[in-house]
Amino acid sequence: ATPTAVMVATGVGANHGVLIKGGDALERAQKVSYVIFDKTGTLTQGKASVTTAKAFSGRDLGDVLTLVASAEASSEHPLAKAIVEYGYHCHFLSQPNKEVGRDAGGNKFSGWLLEATDFTAFPGRGVQCLINGKRILVGNRRLLVDNNVTIPIEAENLMVGLEEGTRTGILVAEDETLIGVLGITDPLKREAAVVVEGLKKMGVHPVMVTGDNWRTARAVAKEVGIEDVRAEVMPAGKADVIRALQEEGCVVAMVGDGINDSPALAAADVGIAIGGGTDIAVEAADYVLMRNNLEDVITAIDLSRKTFARIR
Ligand code: ADP
Ligand code: MG
Repeated sequence: ATPTAVMVATGVGANHGVLIKGGDALERAQKVSYVIFDKTGTLTQGKASVTTAKAFSGRDLGDVLTLVASAEASSEHPLAKAIVEYGYHCHFLSQPNKEVGRDAGGNKFSGWLLEATDFTAFPGRGVQCLINGKRILVGNRRLLVDNNVTIPIEAENLMVGLEEGTRTGILVAEDETLIGVLGITDPLKREAAVVVEGLKKMGVHPVMVTGDNWRTARAVAKEVGIEDVRAEVMPAGKADVIRALQEEGCVVAMVGDGINDSPALAAADVGIAIGGGTDIAVEAADYVLMRNNLEDVITAIDLSRKTFARIR
């Protein structure tokens, strides 16, 4: 393609809110044979909400929710935001005489939380902190089991039911006792299934990669029409998935939004960041989708194919 054709294509992309960082990226996109989608915030809306909350070990549900929210208040994770929001509403609903307000800083999430110290985030697993001298753990099975928490059969059954229904199940422990289970939903983007179908028609193989557990991942993938799933992938592992495909000779595009995704976006032949996503992801990518609409993944590949098809 001539420099003029590349300029025109870049302009057409910009009109769709598809920012293309250079002619090389534009050229590579035509050869893409695999598109790897991150799940949370990429295929899904990234707007999580708590749908289920149950206390265990005879604990009061309100107390458990306050503990979990206090532990998650320091986390930036989308799941954490959903948990704090839910805890906030439950807290004030249970105390009708208390004013549902904001503090001087306009922060509605302070004032009711317990003091948490020694906060640690474990990427891809959960968080830990100390509250009232006890260790609070919030996260997935692996995090709790590695910390010697026994998961009672009723809690495990609840987790399985949630996960089969596309929810992410979150476990809560105080020291080594399981005290709660939360179910969190994050709906698919409206266009997600149509885009997956469209890619298949273009001869492009869609894959979903996620740090979430296998059961939830499979249920979500089924809903969106993706057969090839990689789950329980630690943040560093997403780039390994891409390198393995490249070693087989595939040209790989990665679509992602999170800090977790930036090594994979950089490793991919074509890194595509969701516009509203993390700055680090946007920096690591070759394409930025400003409209946060997955249809523009197809726009990007189409544009490259049309620009370079004639000169192959
Ligand atoms: P994804 O790849 O889908 O964006 P992550 O790698 O961020 O997922 O997280 C993987 C899993 O680790 C989550 O599904 C959840 O079970 C657990 N997790 C991560 N961060 C948190 C947190 N702040 N609170 C609770 N659980 C968490
Ligand atoms: Mg994500």
